[in-house]
Amino acid sequence: MRRYVKDIARERIERLIALADEIYEVNKPLSKRYIELALRVSMRSRVRIPRHLKDRICKKCLSILKPGVNCTVRIRPRREKHIVIKCLECGHVIRIPIKRRLRAKTRATRRGSGTS
Ligand SMILES: [Zn+2]
Repeated sequence: MRRYVKDIARERIERLIALADEIYEVNKPLSKRYIELALRVSMRSRVRIPRHLKDRICKKCLSILKPGVNCTVRIRPRREKHIVIKCLECGHVIRIPIKRRLRAKTRATRRGSGTS
């Protein structure tokens, strides 16, 4: 039963983020509302937002981040190599260490990706 609920939650999160992505340039407030709902579904069902989608959301202003539209993406070699994503709407900065990202990716492929 629990499993079933989580599957629905995951589906809704992915759908809401896809919709937010689609509508962002036409209707920003609605797009942010979709992100808000996706985050709320995630919290209530305790389903994590998949990494590749999580990196595309500004947690501060709830925008979907589109490189070249409302965010910049830079690679920084200093200290530990990391990617810097800056939201141009609110100035919020997300830093993603490159090593952690690679590890997560290999873990994901080892688990097998034929489920969804
Ligand atoms: Zn922002």
